Amino acid sequence: MMEQPTQAGASLAGRVALVTGASRGIGRAVALGLAAAGAEVAVNYRSGKDQAEAVVAAIAAAGGKGYALQADVASEEQAAGLISEVAARSGRLDILVNNAGITRDSLLLRAKTEDWNAVLGTNLTGAFFCARAAAKIMMKQRWGRIISLSSIVGLTGNAGQATYAASKAGLIGLTRSLAKELASRQITVNAVAPGFIETDMTAVLPESARTNLAEAIPLGRTGAPEEVAAAVVFLASPTAAYITGQVLVVDGGLSIGGGF
Ligand code: NAP
Repeated sequence: MMEQPTQAGASLAGRVALVTGASRGIGRAVALGLAAAGAEVAVNYRSGKDQAEAVVAAIAAAGGKGYALQADVASEEQAAGLISEVAARSGRLDILVNNAGITRDSLLLRAKTEDWNAVLGTNLTGAFFCARAAAKIMMKQRWGRIISLSSIVGLTGNAGQATYAASKAGLIGLTRSLAKELASRQITVNAVAPGFIETDMTAVLPESARTNLAEAIPLGRTGAPEEVAAAVVFLASPTAAYITGQVLVVDGGLSIGGGF
């Protein structure tokens, strides 16, 4: 049966969401956004226990429901355990947001094999582990949303970011394949590709690189985590029921380049 689009607000009431890497940055904003839309949210973190607890407290202060769960998504065992824990605690899992991500940037000739393995392991393999375990539950429910945080560099490539860009391009292939495979069970699978968003990940960039990047953005400024979260909440909502296999770019126009 066709889902009727509803307004935001309590559009995700009764739904259970898991956001990986939600202790800070974009994941934190996504967790708060999904909770504000009515979902119960499992806030995953790898090392930031206090930060994750603070996200849970912020959700509760806003009248929502959530809890924190530690797991390293790059570990097959821990990723599977994370999904089982959410199902055991909340009784279901409707929305998976593969947000956990790391960078280990360097030019190709200086890139270490361990950096390649770490970046692919968290960003791509971690998403695969979580999606595989989550899909098992969602297929039985005959409803689900899987949303992965890719990046515009997964579409355009970027000198000095081969490992990261490869992981983010891989997420797009994973997204499109799972969209085809899971569609018959009413599970939609999409990616969000942010540009330059103000988080700890981009805070390490030198000031000159930040200025150059900001000047290349047609909208003239960097983005906020909440602006990415809005796209994720939209894709999770009943309003987006007919959208699957897509990459929604949230970059202030950066990837379309400057004008004339
Ligand atoms: P961030 O501020 O560096 O936060 C990364 C989060 O991922 C943290 O909560 C961290 O948890 C978690 N994490 C890292 N490795 C993990 C693992 N193995 N298992 C579980 N959690 C793990 O990053 P962000 O800027 O918010 O980025 C979030 C996502 O958006 C990433 O996938 C990133 O690639 C993508 N993205 C970001 C930008 C940007 O401009 N910021 C642009 C495009 C795409 P702990 O701190 O608890 O360890």
